[in-house]
Amino acid sequence: MRIGVLALQGDFIEHIQILRALGVEAVEVRLPAQLRDLAGVILPGGESTTFGKLAVEYGLIEPLREFGKTGKPMWGTCAGMIFLAKEVGRAQPVLGLMDVKVKRNAFGRQVESFEVDLDVPVLGAEPFHAIFIRAPLIESVGEGVRVLARLDDGAIVAAQQGNLLATAFHPELTRDTRWHRYFIAQVKPVA
Ligand code: GLN
Repeated sequence: MRIGVLALQGDFIEHIQILRALGVEAVEVRLPAQLRDLAGVILPGGESTTFGKLAVEYGLIEPLREFGKTGKPMWGTCAGMIFLAKEVGRAQPVLGLMDVKVKRNAFGRQVESFEVDLDVPVLGAEPFHAIFIRAPLIESVGEGVRVLARLDDGAIVAAQQGNLLATAFHPELTRDTRWHRYFIAQVKPVA
């Protein structure tokens, strides 16, 4: 099983390191041809406007859309979640695959970054220590989108729609590999 990580900008190396530590072949994706033979794709954290700009330049928007539409697993973390979303509240190139409305930089300047222990039932009883960095949140979800985690105030910070997974925070910056294992299980369901 080979998983690609979009490597235009952002913290793609952290994702690749975790995947490799879990015994998965992980490759950097910068060009459309590199999507061939991939079982899944991760869109990392970074700056979603930069992803959009570079993805347009490299001709990656349509190939990535097609990849997601074929039902292969795609997971966006933070900026990657914005890039995956249908609605982002402003004009910037995105894949527009996942039926969620996101709000960028949702937590304001004063609290740009914070960490919190999240309840994530699909990962088990143990809370997940989530790192939010100038994070977005999910304002609303369409039908068929399952909410996987919320903050105490009810804000949605993780969701899944079939093959599409989104987290507003950065599991790639922690040692807890449960989100990566959850994603890998989507790629190759354990019998
Ligand atoms: N604020 C960034 C954006 O809007 C996301 C930040 C991140 O990925 N840590 O794209």
